[in-house]
Amino acid sequence: MATETDRHGRTHRLELADATLREWDATVLHVEDGGVVLDRSAFYPGGGGQPPDHGVLLWAGVQSRVMGVTKADDLLLRIAEGDPVPGVGEAVRGAVEDERRTALMRTHSALHLMAGVVFREFGALVTGGNMEPLTGRLDFDLPEIPEGFKERIAAQCALEVEQDRRIDVRVLPRDEAFRIPDIIRTASNLLPPELTEVRIVDIVGLDAQADGGTHVASTRQIGRIDVVKVESKGKANRRLRITLP
Ligand SMILES: [Zn+2]
Repeated sequence: MATETDRHGRTHRLELADATLREWDATVLHVEDGGVVLDRSAFYPGGGGQPPDHGVLLWAGVQSRVMGVTKADDLLLRIAEGDPVPGVGEAVRGAVEDERRTALMRTHSALHLMAGVVFREFGALVTGGNMEPLTGRLDFDLPEIPEGFKERIAAQCALEVEQDRRIDVRVLPRDEAFRIPDIIRTASNLLPPELTEVRIVDIVGLDAQADGGTHVASTRQIGRIDVVKVESKGKANRRLRITLP
């Protein structure tokens, strides 16, 4: 799970400091191939398994749909084909589609919660994962499926939601972040050496990870987590799939 500071190219990324922000004002800095670069954006561009946001830009009495984000030197918001594209210097209002984003925040937080539960109960680390709104999977490095594996994880996940643990996001200097045992365990080989700051998503008392995604503020906001499937994907690889009904 990658980390990022609050800027990408010329864009100030508003969602990293406030995952609840859904509307904001911005100025178009650049236009290219039917996409635009804004000075400020709360569109999550995708990364760490979380897909990009959808939404709209409102300007001069029209609405342009944002269908995703291309990450290069800048964040290029991709405007739906056929929709009008605002010009450089245009003042626009950005709006993130709330239903999709909120579902992704709940799903992403649910996966972190499950990662914390599986490590605590079985000592297994995450090797991969992916998500769509209200459904996701994580792969764990686990030689075999222990007795009652799925049921125990489901019960512990439900308990952790009920506990309503706080989910804190903070940015720490690299060496400070690397004093957190969870971060040493999960991220020490993944973070590029030039990274001076690490964004930490901390389900307080359960799981801390270096992460660039958007999350809900406490575990009860995740809602019910159904552990729907356990699969074996390779020798020491167990895949757990969840849905949020
Ligand atoms: Zn994550």
